[in-house]
Amino acid sequence: MGDLTTFPVSYKVEGQRIVIVGGGEEALNKARLAIKTTASVVIISRHIETDFSELPVTVLARPFEDGDLIGAALVFVADHGPDGDAAKRAARAARVPLNVVDVPEECDFYTPAIIDRAPVTIAVSSEGDAPVLARLIRARIEAALSPNLGALAKLAGSMREKVAALLPGTRARRYYEELVTSPEVEVELVRGQGASKADALLAQHAERGESPGVVWLIGAGPGAEDLLTLRAQRLLQEADVIVHDHLVPAAAVEMGRRDAERILVGKQKGHHSFTQAEINALIVRLAKQGKRVARLKGGDPMIFGRAGEEIDALNEAGIAYHVVPGVTAALAAAADTATPVTLRKISTGFVIATAHGAESEELHHWAALAGSGLTLALYMGKSVAAETAARLIAEGASPTIPVGVVVRAGHKDRVLYRGTLGALAAGEAVLEDGPAIIFVGEAIAHGDWRDAIEFARTEFKVA
Ligand code: SAH
Repeated sequence: MGDLTTFPVSYKVEGQRIVIVGGGEEALNKARLAIKTTASVVIISRHIETDFSELPVTVLARPFEDGDLIGAALVFVADHGPDGDAAKRAARAARVPLNVVDVPEECDFYTPAIIDRAPVTIAVSSEGDAPVLARLIRARIEAALSPNLGALAKLAGSMREKVAALLPGTRARRYYEELVTSPEVEVELVRGQGASKADALLAQHAERGESPGVVWLIGAGPGAEDLLTLRAQRLLQEADVIVHDHLVPAAAVEMGRRDAERILVGKQKGHHSFTQAEINALIVRLAKQGKRVARLKGGDPMIFGRAGEEIDALNEAGIAYHVVPGVTAALAAAADTATPVTLRKISTGFVIATAHGAESEELHHWAALAGSGLTLALYMGKSVAAETAARLIAEGASPTIPVGVVVRAGHKDRVLYRGTLGALAAGEAVLEDGPAIIFVGEAIAHGDWRDAIEFARTEFKVA
């Protein structure tokens, strides 16, 4: 179940009437809105107090009559007297959608703030809660949209039959994408040459033939939708298929086109989980069908993302690919805790590693690095945290080295823990479910871990 108490629709009013009962400022405001449509607008009030003469409306200076609602698509009541009451009753009886100005409880519908680039309309609604906010949002969108948008939409509409005859589905969509985003088309449109430019572009697309597919290996960041790069967002909009892991934030997957196919390949209860070989085969097959594939991975694709294997498979199949970086979990964890993972005189480096399958020799090396101040960020290490800490100590790391753990970094419900390597090795850290980054190093003592749950029995050692 969603949260909206209203459902936004574009409601047909052509050939019908929009009736506004009232003769003052409020009625005038609604009239200004109503005349954006092709409906005929009728103002009814025995007290016409405002000048409606500038507007293409019919003014009836008389009391409201029940018959006034015949053929009405919508009714606005901006009259607080008996005429208003009569109009409300009549609207309810005739089931004509009713808006009572400034009385949300009595409204069947609200009027959103409208950005009018006919035939394109953008409506911003706060369901009556915050019309001022809706207007501010409208102003921002107004500023971002070309005034030529409507003309561009009409141009696209005028090409429909020709495009359908020349280009099949996906290729047609690509044509329209280029048509509506190309700056050259807009320039020609302003010069009155839009139609010939659109035809020329269509000829190019028809000649080009089937376009080859491509795979974008995209980092979706650690979880917050506003930690996605602008490039990732743009490519997600262009993708025909989104192949994602379960660690990818739902908001990022949602960002794709509504009709893009979405394939979850991550391991998750109740879902078939794909082997890496199956994922490789899947993205190759989709790209060979000419599709643009967004292979969306949590964090950064190049860090414990098995991108190497996918790139090998793509190279082998001769498929074009691009990598789009993302905010990796360790950096989100560093941000969450204001921990400078490199810090003058304290930590001259930052190591991203996984304890899974690490050899003693490697652990020996890391223990030395941590001892010299470098910050370790351990991925996929939660289940083996105590064991890894013990092994690091056995390889020479000091049990007093600060440790910080961030579960669900970059998410609103992240949880922080801090302690020492010794306490971690002793199994004192009881960590919540969820992906975690384990930091080991002196730099941790310089972060802001005030909200962290302490797992060291001994006092946290500040370097
Ligand atoms: N490519 C990803 C890492 C995938 S490996 C990245 O760059 O972040 C999966 C591991 O990443 C998890 O076991 C966990 O250690 C870490 N991880 C992923 N998302 C995380 C998050 N939001 N918070 C903490 N750790 C996370």
